[in-house]
Amino acid sequence: MIRAFPLKHYAHRSKREKITAPAKLVTERVNFSHPDLSRAMNRLLRNCGRTIVRKKLESLKEDRHIQNQELNGAYSSQGCRCGYVDAKNRKSQSEFECKFCGLTMNADVKSAKVIDGRSSAPNLGAKYISKRSVLDELVKRFIERRKVGADNRSAL
Ligand SMILES: [Zn+2]
Repeated sequence: MIRAFPLKHYAHRSKREKITAPAKLVTERVNFSHPDLSRAMNRLLRNCGRTIVRKKLESLKEDRHIQNQELNGAYSSQGCRCGYVDAKNRKSQSEFECKFCGLTMNADVKSAKVIDGRSSAPNLGAKYISKRSVLDELVKRFIERRKVGADNRSAL
């Protein structure tokens, strides 16, 4: 599955306004594998899936001048906008509920927002950094946010 929602493009539009194509898509690199399939089937699925997606993105770029930015999607399904990352945040395939701040939302929409936010965070969004590096950065950011919040509260 590709999570590619031009959120910023549509966020301020009313229902009556004509929706036009976005100038840019932000997508995550998808693995295209399934644990129940054989190694050979996973390789076939991965190769076909990547080829189909790559060709579609190339045609969007050529035909409609829509740019694509592919980002690292590690922990995008488990992370919240408050910065808390936990596998338990994902209640089901479609439901997200943050165990820290209580945010509830459609899991795919929330993940797309996380991916979109990474488009301006190079040390999180880089395609080829390890999952461990992404998790370390997310935890560091969450702790920093809590410190800043605590400092602001104690200054009042
Ligand atoms: Zn949260």
